[in-house]
Amino acid sequence: MPAHDVLIIGAGLAGQRAALAAAEVGATVAIMSKVHPVRSHSNAAAGGINAALNPDDSWESHAFDTVKGSDYLGDQDAIEIMCREAPGEVLWLEHRGVTFHRNLEGKLGTRAFGGASAARTYYVADITGQALLHVLYEQLMKFHALIDRYEEWFVTALVQDDDGQCTGAVARNIRDGSMELFGAKATIQASGGAGQCFKPTTNALICTGDGIAQSFRIGAPLMDMEMIQYHPTTLAGNGILITEGARGEGAHLYNAEGERFMEKYAPNKMELASRDVVSRSEQTEINEGRGFPDGTVALDITKVPRKRTLEALREIVNIGRDFAGVDITREPIHIRPGCHYIMGGVKTDVWGATSIPGLYAAGEVACVSVHGGNRLGANSLLDTLIFGRRSGEHAAQRAAGMSAPRASRAALADERRMIAGIIGREGGGRRISAIKDELGTMMNEKCAVFRTAQGLAEAHETIRRLKEEASVAAIDDRGSVFNQDVLAALELEYMLDVAECIVVGAIERKESRGAQFRLDFPERNDDEWLKHITLSVNGADAPQISYTPVTMTQWEPQERTY
Ligand SMILES: Cc1cc2nc3c(=O)[nH]c(=O)nc-3n(C[C@H](O)[C@H](O)[C@H](O)COP(=O)(O)OP(=O)(O)OC[C@H]3O[C@@H](n4cnc5c(N)ncnc54)[C@H](O)[C@@H]3O)c2cc1C
Repeated sequence: MPAHDVLIIGAGLAGQRAALAAAEVGATVAIMSKVHPVRSHSNAAAGGINAALNPDDSWESHAFDTVKGSDYLGDQDAIEIMCREAPGEVLWLEHRGVTFHRNLEGKLGTRAFGGASAARTYYVADITGQALLHVLYEQLMKFHALIDRYEEWFVTALVQDDDGQCTGAVARNIRDGSMELFGAKATIQASGGAGQCFKPTTNALICTGDGIAQSFRIGAPLMDMEMIQYHPTTLAGNGILITEGARGEGAHLYNAEGERFMEKYAPNKMELASRDVVSRSEQTEINEGRGFPDGTVALDITKVPRKRTLEALREIVNIGRDFAGVDITREPIHIRPGCHYIMGGVKTDVWGATSIPGLYAAGEVACVSVHGGNRLGANSLLDTLIFGRRSGEHAAQRAAGMSAPRASRAALADERRMIAGIIGREGGGRRISAIKDELGTMMNEKCAVFRTAQGLAEAHETIRRLKEEASVAAIDDRGSVFNQDVLAALELEYMLDVAECIVVGAIERKESRGAQFRLDFPERNDDEWLKHITLSVNGADAPQISYTPVTMTQWEPQERTY
């Protein structure tokens, strides 16, 4: 049995940063990913990473923008930590070789992003995530003596001992189907988000909420699950993202009547209001008949000088051409709000620790909560790195003070049996892809920008039925080499667990705050709902609901206008 001080599930930015932090203090590390690490979804991040690094900016201003952006649901102690530590983290990355954009004076240059009172987004053209991920991966290789990489291994379950401590995980080697128990003194979930619960989404096919569901199943509470971010600029049909960097560089939004409609909704910040505000404004225009027949509004990037677009937004030039047949340097492109990010996740403290001893979570899988009701653009890369590093440090510290826990081989036998059960399914069930399509399309109808009690209740009912169908879904591939059918069956069950938690949270929150807009409760209600909704496993029934207070340090809730 492979045993390490720290086991990290996920090799995106959060996982890789955690691995480096743990190895830097001498811990032995296993980092595991179901795809090659540089194919992790962090690779898709485009626009940049926030930090108050300019002398005329301040961490307090960054923190206040984040608190306001979160619609006052973010925990202010965690937000303070993230914003204070941001400048050091960006410099750390630069010193390791990230080629951040430099301005004409040769200094690190910034671009504006939504909901921010200063231009504080550092970027590498519109491939920031890719640039960061490759530099971190080089560092992982440099630390090869301490960090073992398990690439194309799929974790199927977390393992606990009799005292409830997390003692590692069971994983399947995707290449040959063998199963292995990995023992660890500390385990970090860094397995990313769950955008695939919705269709369409900006998220990669691998974002199926595995870590959220696995942690929930062993008793780790989830928090803020109802808060799903719809990004204002995604392509109709396929959901591909047009980065907020476009609006940061000066692109405008127009309805089909040629009106720059953000003047009505956010006269001060216009297109650079918070994402929840811009998405709701677009959807209102579309719903009230001022959109285009394809259910979109127009993003006009021709407002940005062509040379600048070709230099700083070159990926979306390619996306416009290849996926919409539009030259964005010469004509507007049709966009609409699309599922993009999950603010909720596994509840952690500011060191990434969950309520299960030995289990940590960092990155999109986690909820610290720094994003509360709505994440500001370019704050997620920051979240992955700051809390990835902190969880790596804390997990290494825990490991240094303890002997290896006894890992239960019974868990390995259970997981082998569970996989054999999937492979041995009789034919006749619905196809996994059909169940997944129904889930995603339904979530995008009933749990999107605008929500109602009736729509959410219908969503819950559908999820319950889909769970039953998923448990007997048809399998074609019964082999062991790269068996994607088995993995898809597992991912579908994770997505259904996550979707149920999203819907249960959205039903429970009877107000409108951040990304949750209830047509039947259209106002924010601080008296009753300035609190986190926390969900825990509850046998076979729906998740059990409890509440966690929001941590306030220096910013009292105010009316939120842009
Ligand atoms: C198109 C797009 C653009 C974005 N642009 C920006 C931006 O400009 N700025 C910003 O701040 N944010 C941006 N975001 C958000 C940001 O990219 C993500 O929130 C962030 O990268 C998530 O990183 P992560 O490390 O938590 O997870 P990921 O990068 O998703 O990594 C998850 C890892 O977990 C592994 N994994 C998952 N399940 C399993 C399993 N069962 N077994 C083994 N391994 C598993 C995966 O293989 C992967 O290695 C963007 C998001 C999208 C969709």
